[in-house]
Amino acid sequence: MKDMVIIGGGPGGLAAGIYAVRSGLDTVLYERNALGGSVLTAGKIENYPGFPGGISGPELVARMEEHARQVGLNIEFNEVHEITPDNGSLHLRTREGEVSTRTVVIATGTGPRPLGVEGEERLRGRGVSYCAVCDGAFFRNQSVAVVGGGDAAAEEANYLSRFASQVYLIHPRESIRRSRVGRRRIDENPKIKTIPKTEVIGIKGDKAVEALILKNRETGETSDLQVDGVFVYVGIRPNSYLVQKLVDLDDRGFIITDWRMRTSRAGIFAVGDVRRTPLRQIATAVGDGATAAIWAEKYLTSLS
Ligand SMILES: Cc1cc2nc3c(=O)[nH]c(=O)nc-3n(C[C@H](O)[C@H](O)[C@H](O)COP(=O)(O)OP(=O)(O)OC[C@H]3O[C@@H](n4cnc5c(N)ncnc54)[C@H](O)[C@@H]3O)c2cc1C
Repeated sequence: MKDMVIIGGGPGGLAAGIYAVRSGLDTVLYERNALGGSVLTAGKIENYPGFPGGISGPELVARMEEHARQVGLNIEFNEVHEITPDNGSLHLRTREGEVSTRTVVIATGTGPRPLGVEGEERLRGRGVSYCAVCDGAFFRNQSVAVVGGGDAAAEEANYLSRFASQVYLIHPRESIRRSRVGRRRIDENPKIKTIPKTEVIGIKGDKAVEALILKNRETGETSDLQVDGVFVYVGIRPNSYLVQKLVDLDDRGFIITDWRMRTSRAGIFAVGDVRRTPLRQIATAVGDGATAAIWAEKYLTSLS
C-alpha cells in the first residue's frame, strides 16, 4: 500500500512528488507520456522565478526531473485508467497493473479543446495540430491557418510566421482579443492575414489537410481556403475523466478543491491546471503541488 500516488508528471505533479518524498511518504508518480506536460510545448518561459532572461520549456523540465530524481521520487511511465475507492483506501488500475494507495494527487492538466468539425479527427497529425511549437517546423514555406480569437491563437500565429510562407488567423469576432501591443504585432507582420467574423465548419483532405471550409458569420456565405495545415486554439478542457464520478467538478469539468487542494472526497487531492483556479501557470501548479503534499501528509498522520 502506497502513501501517495501522483497522476501526471507536469510541474504540479513533480512539485508534489518532491515535497512528498521529502516528507517521508512512500510515493510513486505515474506519467503517461513525457515528463513536463504542457511545459514541453511552451517555447521560452520568461516568468518563472529564478531564470532571468528566460529558460526553454524542455530545459526547465529537465531541471525539475533532475531535482525530483535527486530526492528519490519513484517515477514510472504508465497511464492510470481507473480509480476505485476501496475500504478507506484507493485502488488504481494502470496500463501495466494495479496499485493501492491511501492518497492520490490528480495532476493531469488540460488538453486542447477540439473544433468538433468534420475532417478534424481523421486528419489529426496529418495537417491538423494543436501545438505550434511541436509541429510548426513541418510547415516550412507552406501555408497554414490558426483558428481562435484569444491570446494563444495570436501568439501561435506569430510563432508560425517564422516557418510558414503565409499564416491565416481565423477568428469569430470583429477583432482578436489581445492587448494593443499584441494586436500591433499581428497587424504589422506581413505574413499574417486575419480573417475576422469567420468560423471553420469543415476540414477537407484525403491523406492530408488540403483546405478549410469557412463560413462568414455575418453573411452566412461559405468558401474554401487552401492551406497545408491548421492549428486549433479554441480553448482547453480539463483531464478530469478519472474522477468525474468521484469528486465535485465545476460546470466545465474542472476539479473543485479547497485551499488545501482537497477535493470533495477524502484522500483525493487535485493540483495545477486540472483544478478550478483563477490562474493556470507553472508557478501556480508548483505551489498547488507543494500544498497538496503537505496536507496529504497531515491527512495520513490523522489516520494513524
Ligand atoms: C503553449 C504553452 C505555453 C505556456 N507558457 C507558459 C509560460 O510561459 N509560463 C507559465 O508559467 N506557464 C505557461 N504555460 C502553462 C503551463 O505550462 C501550465 O500551467 C502547467 O504546465 C500546468 O502544470 P500541471 O502539472 O497542472 O499540468 P500539465 O503540465 O498539463 O501536466 C499534466 C501531465 O499529466 C499527464 N497525464 C494526464 N492524464 C494522465 C493519466 N491518466 N495517467 C498518467 N499521466 C497522465 C499528462 O501526460 C501531462 O504530462 C504554457 C502552456 C502552454 C500550452
